[in-house]
Amino acid sequence: LHGPGPQGAAPAEAALAERAGRPVIVVANAGTVNTVDFDDLRAIAALRERYDFWLHVDGAFGAFAALSPRYAALVDGLDAADSVCVDLHKWLNVPYDAAVQFTRRRDLQVAVFHNASPYLGPPTGEPEFLHLTPENSRRLRALPAWFSLMAYGRAGHREIVERDVALARRLGAGVEALPGLRLLAPVRLNVVCFTLAADPSEERVARLARAVAESGEAFVTPTVHDGVPGLRAAFSNWRTTEADTDRVLRVLAASV
Ligand SMILES: *Cc1c(COP(=O)(O)O)cnc(C)c1O
Repeated sequence: LHGPGPQGAAPAEAALAERAGRPVIVVANAGTVNTVDFDDLRAIAALRERYDFWLHVDGAFGAFAALSPRYAALVDGLDAADSVCVDLHKWLNVPYDAAVQFTRRRDLQVAVFHNASPYLGPPTGEPEFLHLTPENSRRLRALPAWFSLMAYGRAGHREIVERDVALARRLGAGVEALPGLRLLAPVRLNVVCFTLAADPSEERVARLARAVAESGEAFVTPTVHDGVPGLRAAFSNWRTTEADTDRVLRVLAASV
C-alpha cells in the first residue's frame, strides 16, 4: 500500500485558495485509469474546514477496494464525499453500461434533471431515474446488478477483487522479470502499466501491442503515462485465473 503522495493535498489547497469565494467542485480520484493511483481523500475532505467546495470522488473501479480489508485503506475518507460514482460494468461484472452514483443532495439532482412534462407526473420523492438523470427511456440496468449482488454477496465480490489484484501483481512481477520490459508504476491494485525497457517510442510500443493482439492470445491497450508510451492490462473479470496471466506473459515474452 502506498500512503499520501509526496505533495499530499497541497496542490488542491493552492487551487482552492486561488478560487476562494467562487463555486468549486473538486474531483478526487479513487483509482486512476493508468496506474490506479488514489488521492488522499481524507486530506482533501479536511480542506472543507477552510474552503467551501463540493467533493466528488471518481471511484469507477477503485471504490471496489473497500470490499477487501487488505485494500480498504486506499479509499479511506470516501465517506466524506458529497458525491461518488462507481462503475458496475467493470468490477461488478454486469453488462455495459451500468453504474451507480451516490449523492448527499438528491434535491439538487432532481432540480437539475427533473423531467417536467405533465404525462410523466411530478417527482414523488421515490428514486425515479427519469427525474434523476439525463435519460428518459432506459433499460432496467439495476436488475443484473441486483442479481449479481444477491448471488455473490459481499464475500463473493471481495474474492473477485482480491483474486484480480493478486493476478495483476503476478503479471506485474512477470513483466519486471522480462528483460525487455519495465513497469511504468508499481502495481497498486488491478492494473499493470508497463512499457519497453529500451526506447519506448509510440511506434515500437504500438508494434508490441499489435504483436500481442495478432497472437490471438491476448489484447492489451496502449496508453501514455507521464509522457511515456506504454501498455496497460486491467484485471476485473470474474473468470480470470493464473493460467490467463501466464498466457499473457508467454505472449509478451515472445513478442518483445
Ligand atoms: C471507466 C472509467 C470512467 C468512465 O466510466 P464510464 O463507464 O465510461 O462512464 C471514469 N473514471 C475512471 C477512473 C474509469 O476507470
